[in-house]
Amino acid sequence: MSETLDGARIRDEIKAELTPRVANIAGKLGRPPGLSVILAGSNPASQIYVAAKTRAAKDIGVFSETLTPPETTTTAELLDMVDALNARPEIDGILVQLPLPEHVDEAAVLMRVSPAKDVDGFHPCNIGMLSTGRPGPRPCTPAGIIQLLKRYRIPMSGQRATVVGRSDIVGKPMSMLLLAENATVTTAHSRTRDLAAVCREADILVAAIGRPAMLTRDYIKPGATVIDVGMNRLTDRAGVERIYGHDPGRLKQFESKGSVLVGDVDPLAMAEIAGAYTPVPGGVGPLTIAMLMFNTVEACERKAH
Ligand code: NDP
Repeated sequence: MSETLDGARIRDEIKAELTPRVANIAGKLGRPPGLSVILAGSNPASQIYVAAKTRAAKDIGVFSETLTPPETTTTAELLDMVDALNARPEIDGILVQLPLPEHVDEAAVLMRVSPAKDVDGFHPCNIGMLSTGRPGPRPCTPAGIIQLLKRYRIPMSGQRATVVGRSDIVGKPMSMLLLAENATVTTAHSRTRDLAAVCREADILVAAIGRPAMLTRDYIKPGATVIDVGMNRLTDRAGVERIYGHDPGRLKQFESKGSVLVGDVDPLAMAEIAGAYTPVPGGVGPLTIAMLMFNTVEACERKAH
């Protein structure tokens, strides 16, 4: 029987640890840590994510504000906005919600965030700190996964890890963080030959691909820990029946909502073959926001000391 790794439980643990730290800094600085979110345009998914982030901030006593420039905002306007936030002493963290409107130079805007306030950990300066083992904010999703593995006491040192996906926000930093934990890491991607064999070698398999249930039973080593980062919304009945035919609860959910979420790993294969795994939803998802709060509190603490 494989173990389900409960991301919501770990999120609550992290938030509970942060709450007294926030109160302590607020006592020292005379203000709480401050987070400013730039939400450009009206992408509905982004609005939901940002609402969840501001709720989490409120829960632990972090001040948060959301700036909402319109869809038509320009790169120059966003750069000015970031400059203004960089200069405000009561703002410790700046988060630029992605995606930005298509005409905006996303890389330029992200680069403009002061590395000291880069609570997403995306600035090349902070990626350099990560790759050279220096302290600094780590990208939230992979940092949350490391917390989950540690808190469930899943050994990483000396283990073989395969990360499928090499994006700047998940795959690459995930590989670097696992390497820092002394795992032997393989980073796989769309050009990897015989992906199933590469995945089957892994004691820890991380899927960050964005393809519904792509990793089937042939990709999983029996007893492995499987971390499914994928968040794919399924809207076609045939796809839902193929992947969730065994799960009446999900089929019912599909009937009532018209869609269901699925990760990058086949859920039945994962539950039957893995030693431990993160479900979708409820696995990796909750950790990302907890680590955003962690990075905000740490950014503020660095100032307080
Ligand atoms: P990207 O699209 O940026 O990267 C996807 C990666 O998967 C690429 O490196 C790509 O390879 C690789 N890939 C695509 N197809 C294949 C294939 N057939 N075989 C092997 N590798 C393949 O996605 P992200 O990293 O941003 O996100 C990945 C998933 O994680 C998405 O489902 C996203 O929704 C989810 N996500 C979830 C979060 C959470 O909090 N739970 C947070 C962030 C993301 P190549 O580089 O060669 O093109």
